[in-house]
Amino acid sequence: MPSTRKAAMITMNISHMTAYPDRLSYNGRHYDISVPRMWMKPERRETEVKLYTHIVWPAMCSCLLLAIVLGCGSETPPPRITEQAKSMAANGIMDEPAVTAAAVTEAAAPASESGEAAKRSYSPKVKRYLEQIYDVSHREFACTATNAAAHAEWRSEARPVLRRLLGLDHMQEELAGWTPMVELSKAKSMDGYTRARGKMLVEPNVTVPFWVLRPQGSGPFPVAVMPHGHDPHGWYANIYDTEEDRSRIASEDRDVAVQAVRRGYIAIAPATRGLGCAGVPDIDGRHGKRDCRSQMVHCLLAGRTPLGERVWDMERFLDWGLALPNVDSERVLMLGNSGGGVVAVFAAACDERITVAVPSCSFSSFIRNDGTVQFCDCNLVPSILRFGDAHDIAGLIAPRWLLAVHGEKDGMFYMEDIEGAAARTRAVFAAAGVPTHFELRVGPHGHRFYKELMWPFIDVTLGSR
Ligand SMILES: [Zn+2]
Repeated sequence: MPSTRKAAMITMNISHMTAYPDRLSYNGRHYDISVPRMWMKPERRETEVKLYTHIVWPAMCSCLLLAIVLGCGSETPPPRITEQAKSMAANGIMDEPAVTAAAVTEAAAPASESGEAAKRSYSPKVKRYLEQIYDVSHREFACTATNAAAHAEWRSEARPVLRRLLGLDHMQEELAGWTPMVELSKAKSMDGYTRARGKMLVEPNVTVPFWVLRPQGSGPFPVAVMPHGHDPHGWYANIYDTEEDRSRIASEDRDVAVQAVRRGYIAIAPATRGLGCAGVPDIDGRHGKRDCRSQMVHCLLAGRTPLGERVWDMERFLDWGLALPNVDSERVLMLGNSGGGVVAVFAAACDERITVAVPSCSFSSFIRNDGTVQFCDCNLVPSILRFGDAHDIAGLIAPRWLLAVHGEKDGMFYMEDIEGAAARTRAVFAAAGVPTHFELRVGPHGHRFYKELMWPFIDVTLGSR
């Protein structure tokens, strides 16, 4: 309790006791401290009363004042808290054992030290805490639109807020007037297309490498911007170092830029900022030996987010790609797996130039059903659940097109979370008047691309050659 409030209370109590010397009051409650008159002999009543009013009452008053003053230092819980604690006990919250230092250590320890149970599940108390802080009532920009006009109005209000949460406002202000520079290597002829390595100076001192694959012919060509996730840069263009990588790219459909160029797209496959090749590496292992987390720490300190930087980069690639000759700027695809898929959704939510977004193995509620967060830390957007959940971000893409692809054996996400997020996204797209513009498609394997699920949807929405 603030000391000023206590001082006011003490003053109030003293004045109350002056007016009613046989009562004590505390926090608005009055207690009768008079000696019952029936206990007094009539002849002694006057003497007793004098004794009471001149000695007992002042002594009790002094003790009370002393207790209250001492209480200023010890922060005695106010009765309101006590009542809240009683209510919590009534609801079973206090039934669990008290949290001890050992329990805290165990809860925070790695699974190998604390056992499988701790690895799999939070305690009921932790789960309730998480439900409390993530309560849906906190989501200020959750889409509640029920028709297309209301959805359009919500979009116009929510999108600038999302950009601000991502730190894009800061970037836009700091980098006003900055023109990214692109350097391209000589294009190499491939089987039916050309391939060139490039690098873009997306802001001073930050170079993002990319591959660009161009189809043969005169166009106009649709454009596909395909941000990598945590996979090695180059895989999307079928570039690898080892036989193992080659085999994995082939078996998991990871050469998406090649798939795109063969369908007539100019395919641009940038690296992900924060993943070693472009960003702030974790040089001393302080951030879990993960470059993307090192990038995150520096971003957050500066009022940015890694995801905001990645959206910024993709917007610069859109600027560049859509300015290329023979481009159809009405047909723009953004597609990525895992972290690349998260970038695809946020970039499409922020930038209306993207016609179709395809997040692969990445679109789910931000918090998993068991309370855990499975997204890599570098996808963290502070306070995002004060804005809305994944379906609200996705809802900003409507009335354009969104396809979420997942693998049913992807251990990172639960199908119930994915389907829940999909159902809510479907509702937002329906409210926007375009219920068929969102789909969830699920493949039979794990965390990878599914070309047989993606391209038919994209071909229908954008058309293929
Ligand atoms: Zn990461």
